Amino acid sequence: LFAGLSGRITVITGASSGIGEGIAKVFAENKSHLILGARRVDRLEALKKDLSTAHGIKVFIHELDVTDRSSVDRFVAAIPEDLKNVDVLVNNAGLALGVKHAFENDLDQVSQMIDVNVKGVFTILKAFLPGFMERKKGDIINISSVAGLEGYPGGSGYCATKHAVQGLTEALRKEVVATPLRICSICPGLVETEFSQVRFGGDQEKAKNVYKGIEALTAADVADTVAYVVSRPAHVQISDLVIMPTNQA
Ligand code: NDP
Repeated sequence: LFAGLSGRITVITGASSGIGEGIAKVFAENKSHLILGARRVDRLEALKKDLSTAHGIKVFIHELDVTDRSSVDRFVAAIPEDLKNVDVLVNNAGLALGVKHAFENDLDQVSQMIDVNVKGVFTILKAFLPGFMERKKGDIINISSVAGLEGYPGGSGYCATKHAVQGLTEALRKEVVATPLRICSICPGLVETEFSQVRFGGDQEKAKNVYKGIEALTAADVADTVAYVVSRPAHVQISDLVIMPTNQA
């Protein structure tokens, strides 16, 4: 168990699958209360049922589309009074679409990645940061990617969005440096989730190929890392963290 997570209130965007769902599970095991958002509310409902009965924590779920400002407003407004003092915000919702060379990029796909991975993070931050600033405490974790640190062929759109996440996280960390707030960017390598299915529009064959020859990370591996970062003593800020499969170059 990770010391200090018990009783804290954690918001996770994109909690309906993969890494977000994994973080919800690890935080629930550590007795953190949860506020979970995603578009697929049926998935959130099932997760809430599992976690609240197994761990005796409060779990609030609500539909959330991070690309839609009014959806974000509804999500924030619906948070019950006893969960409003959020301690941890995990900006996790994100996606990649397609693997295309820049000269053949589908601009709608590029726009969608920017909307979710970049603008979505700005919108969620705008909604929650005032509360963090007022309470003068808390952790903000942005799930970036190794694609935020390097470029790879066919990934210009996705890599651009995650480089943007790196930039905004770094700027935010410096803006709040005089406060006890901690800001962290986590950059995972390959994680086996629904990410590749989304990327290839449900083409199972292409999705599977992504993991060939690599023992990918699990969502639980990344979730453990997030719990580790958040449970450090108050004077320790892990500002950037890369987590890779051992055999991924
Ligand atoms: P998944 O596809 O399994 O999960 C993505 C989550 O994001 C889902 O819960 C989805 O929920 C949510 N989401 C997507 N669009 C929106 C939206 N508009 N509003 C709200 N929620 C949204 O992929 P992962 O778990 O792998 O991805 C999570 C994060 O990790 C992403 O930011 C991704 O870029 C990053 N990452 C993933 C890696 C990997 O190899 N898998 C590696 C490095 C980083 P719903 O569809 O219900 O809205």
